[in-house]
Amino acid sequence: MSGVEEPKLGEECGVFGMYDLDGNDVASTIYYGLFSLQHRGQESCGIAVSRTDGPPRNSNVCKGMGLVNEVFDAEAIEKMQGDIGVGHVRYSTAGASVAENTQPLVLNYIKGTLSLAHNGNLINAVELRQKLELSGAIFQTSIDSEVIAYLIARERLNVGKVEEAVKRAMEKIKGAYSIVIASPRKLIGVRDPFGFRPLCIGKRDNAYIIASESCALDTVGAEFIRDIEPGEIVTITSEGIKSDKSMSGDKCAKCIFEYIYFSRPDSYMDGVCVYSSRITAGKILAQQHPVDADIVVGVPESGNAAAMGYAMESGIPYGTAFIKNSYVGRTFIKPKQSARESSVMVKLNVLREVVNDKRVVMIDDSIVRGTTSDRIVKALKDAGAKEVHVRISSPPFLYPCYFGTDIPSSRQLIAHNHSIDEICELIGADSLGYLDINRLDELIDGDKGYCNACFSGNYPLDPPKEDIRGDYEK
Ligand code: AMP
Repeated sequence: MSGVEEPKLGEECGVFGMYDLDGNDVASTIYYGLFSLQHRGQESCGIAVSRTDGPPRNSNVCKGMGLVNEVFDAEAIEKMQGDIGVGHVRYSTAGASVAENTQPLVLNYIKGTLSLAHNGNLINAVELRQKLELSGAIFQTSIDSEVIAYLIARERLNVGKVEEAVKRAMEKIKGAYSIVIASPRKLIGVRDPFGFRPLCIGKRDNAYIIASESCALDTVGAEFIRDIEPGEIVTITSEGIKSDKSMSGDKCAKCIFEYIYFSRPDSYMDGVCVYSSRITAGKILAQQHPVDADIVVGVPESGNAAAMGYAMESGIPYGTAFIKNSYVGRTFIKPKQSARESSVMVKLNVLREVVNDKRVVMIDDSIVRGTTSDRIVKALKDAGAKEVHVRISSPPFLYPCYFGTDIPSSRQLIAHNHSIDEICELIGADSLGYLDINRLDELIDGDKGYCNACFSGNYPLDPPKEDIRGDYEK
């Protein structure tokens, strides 16, 4: 289930870039692309486009706080003329939820305009920013994406091509980044050497698209070409696609939580269908934590496929126990602690008809602080469920994420401070089972190149010296 009520840490974003080689406007396609990536960020969004045959610095930007359909209207999109552009949806940190931090970032410098949209978190942004500031740089935002944009613009003055400047910037930045960049006549897609966040390429007629997830390509009628590889820089010009893999490393660390929770089930990432990996997680749960029950239900949305997998493996019928209100946007007023309404139950309601008098297996993708499970288990019992057996399609969260997923510090994570039996009691369940960390690779067809640091504490890169979370936990 997607949390909207808690102040959130980390950057969860979606990016979408497009270059139409026939010169057609791209803004409306970017709009629909962002719409299908809305699950990756609901706080702010934006689009920047320009004309490749226009005068220098002709970019057209529209961005703001809110959902895609709140920030743009038909008139705004109509006015945005340009055959190249990038778009962004963002789900930001608590401390930085302000309009100046919206993306894409648009930078005017001596060589023209550069628009950039970034998904991920750098771990050395603070040091880089300080260094740049000491050499005269002035930053207008507090996001690390501006550090990347600044480095690229600066390096571009020393090299002949923007993709060379991107490569030089990559030599300095560390962490998670999947980026799309529109320079005056090039669309560039970059994925960090570990490949933390996804990024793929598509094509529609004579237009190229670079997007966070393949579901965005389907939505705009584009054909999936391939994933951008970890460490790869893809440059799209009027001559087609060029690739530079000289920054690729030998170790990948794709985020396993993209498959468990974050991405849309209809996306394919690095050759794996997200829906299938959730089905697999459910099957493993059924093997490892079987229970006698009458019905298996998923907590929408990401729990649904795993619940289906559990049902398939166990033979217990699958059912729908929750009806989700999909209209919870940024303007949702969080109920006060004292109010009778809870944020969770405003978003979800239980179908009494389905669960009354039943022994229920309830599957969710994760437990963070435990608030959601606690409320939902209670709601199922209030609706007449005789027993509620909670199964979680990920291992227990024990460590924060520094690479672009919103997982708070250890002390806020219920599993860090409590045993599984204690958590079971705290959430009021009759039994509780988590996915075994040793079987995570089965979710991605045995691929070992993934990051599971939020479960294991084995970070592929050392966490930042200065913990960026300090600010947000007060
Ligand atoms: P909690 O109530 O704090 O235990 O949060 C658990 C719920 O948050 C689960 O239903 C998850 O689907 C959801 N969730 C887990 N990770 C995230 C995330 N990074 N961003 C937003 N929601 C999340």
